[in-house]
Amino acid sequence: MRQHVSESTKAKDTHSTTVPAEVVNLREVSVDYDGVIALESVNLSVQENDFFGIIGPNGGGKSTLLKVILGLVSPQQGEVAVWGQPPLKSPRRVGYVPQHNSFDRDFPITVWNVVLMGRLSRAHMFRAYDRHDRENALEALRTVGMTDLRKRPIGSLSGGQQQRAFIARALVRDPSLLLLDEPMANVDSGTQEELYELLSELSHRMAIMMVSHDLSAISVYVDKIACLNRRLYYHGSKEIPAEDIEAAYGCPIELLAHGMPHRVLRRHD
Ligand code: ADP
Ligand code: MG
Repeated sequence: MRQHVSESTKAKDTHSTTVPAEVVNLREVSVDYDGVIALESVNLSVQENDFFGIIGPNGGGKSTLLKVILGLVSPQQGEVAVWGQPPLKSPRRVGYVPQHNSFDRDFPITVWNVVLMGRLSRAHMFRAYDRHDRENALEALRTVGMTDLRKRPIGSLSGGQQQRAFIARALVRDPSLLLLDEPMANVDSGTQEELYELLSELSHRMAIMMVSHDLSAISVYVDKIACLNRRLYYHGSKEIPAEDIEAAYGCPIELLAHGMPHRVLRRHD
């Protein structure tokens, strides 16, 4: 197993002094969908250098947390800042790889067009692509190692290749923060390792946050881990205290830790 990249070897761009180094700040954030509480008093700080993993059971609020950072869901309580501003006014771009449940394998769209679509913004949804768009799309495909497969229908690719294409789509607008929702779902462990290597490379130039319901899908590449089940459990460490996992998942650690005992920190007095 490869070691994760240490803080000292990371050499991300230093940003201008007007933009804070803290990428995301959540203060006492609560989200309630008509009586269903998804997030409760969540506090979170993500820094420029972070490759942040968040694990939690299904329904634990992981997708909601990412949508709050994107400005797609507005919390009923609390404050959200992305580079010091409300999410939709963030001074830097945020890339998003949504949770990817069902995909129509016959949908006739090529990898190239999936990636190019990432160039469209909500304000300019129906414009034509220009040379700059195509250059960016090609560069993003190069970054994820998918230029050879760009003419293939997306549905004909493996789960890992599709995930790369969706990561490329998120990269084409040159984000400084990349959010990934369950990127390791439907991907075998060898392919997960390759995806982690890619994300680890990317984490040299952008902050990364990924969420996963699968404990075993969080690897040593991630340099901070929190547990989320409505409440966020985080103690600033690279390991997870067993009691945090038990609190988040509601069952004993022995049942949960099979995939990642090396990431679990037992209580020691
Ligand atoms: P996770 O991604 O960890 O599985 P979600 O953020 O999707 O969790 O969901 C958290 C809780 O909020 C769940 O109980 C879910 O049913 C509920 N929820 C999520 N989105 C909505 C929505 N749009 N409307 C109503 N309830 C929702
Ligand atoms: Mg989810």
